[in-house]
Amino acid sequence: MANILTGETAISLPALFAALPVAVVLIGRDGRILAANPATAVLEKGPPEAMLGQQVALIHPDATRSMARDLWLAEAGLEVPDNEVTFGDRQYQVSVRAVRNDTGEVAAFVVAFTDISRLKRVERRLSETNRRLKARVWEDHLTGIPSRRYLDAALAREVRRARRGGQALSIVMADIDRFKFYNDRYGHLAGDDCLRMVARAATSALGRGGDELCRYGGEEFIAILPGTGADGAVMVAERMRQAVADQAAPHDGLPWGHVTISLGVASLPPADHGSHRDRDTLIAAADAALYAAKAAGRDRVARARDG
Ligand code: GH3
Ligand code: MG
Ligand code: MG
Repeated sequence: MANILTGETAISLPALFAALPVAVVLIGRDGRILAANPATAVLEKGPPEAMLGQQVALIHPDATRSMARDLWLAEAGLEVPDNEVTFGDRQYQVSVRAVRNDTGEVAAFVVAFTDISRLKRVERRLSETNRRLKARVWEDHLTGIPSRRYLDAALAREVRRARRGGQALSIVMADIDRFKFYNDRYGHLAGDDCLRMVARAATSALGRGGDELCRYGGEEFIAILPGTGADGAVMVAERMRQAVADQAAPHDGLPWGHVTISLGVASLPPADHGSHRDRDTLIAAADAALYAAKAAGRDRVARARDG
């Protein structure tokens, strides 16, 4: 028997095999288990000596099939890829290597099982955290409605969709009236409550399934109204205005004494011939209309000059 070291520290290969800290099994070309080290106890297939001579399917029901594939790969001179298996509540990485005889033929396979349960748990926790973080990016943390990042993506998508289908698309930009005064008078915490109230009330005014209210800036919101022309959008904007006014939240800085919003409406005309209005020019048009609503006295709706 060959020793891997000489002199006083001479160790036999069987001794080394028995001491390996990972479960290792040697499998013949015919699928029989030729050797199993003591660490294979973790696989719970009985004591190593009882595994000897048994078919590889004893270890895992899929093992016969994957052995046939591994043999094919090894004989083609290719590397056998690692894979993962589950035994009970533990997961293992399975590494398979062909063992060749003196003439280079595949004589057996050596298979090592490494317990990766802890790694998998960490991996699951990381991907769950990742999923939650991603969801948070799409949501405005203060009001719970879709965020600016979401708006940018959704509006670009809706503009493309409207162009493709020759359908109308409108947006409504809403801005709280004299909100700087509100913050100064009632404090920033009350200001944040006011933002939540406006988000809730304005959202309740949206009727269709595809309609969405997003937070655009500090105290500015944009509603996306797919399939809605300018006239319909003005009606929706008026409902949003009314829904906020109906909350009757006190506001000393306005002549009517309660919180209101001003709104600007802009549309992508149906069958958008020759017009090059895109996401940014649509927002600019709504912003200009909003400015006109402010200039005309606030608590009102204005539409963009060209629709
Ligand atoms: P106007 O009627 O012309 O819209 O007047 P305004 O005071 O609302 O407009 P302006 O743009 O001058 O001020 C917006 C103010 O909104 C500035 C800031 O005090 C407040 N604001 C912006 N973002 C937030 C926020 O996230 N929380 C709070 N509490 N206040 C905000
Ligand atoms: Mg503003
Ligand atoms: Mg404002």
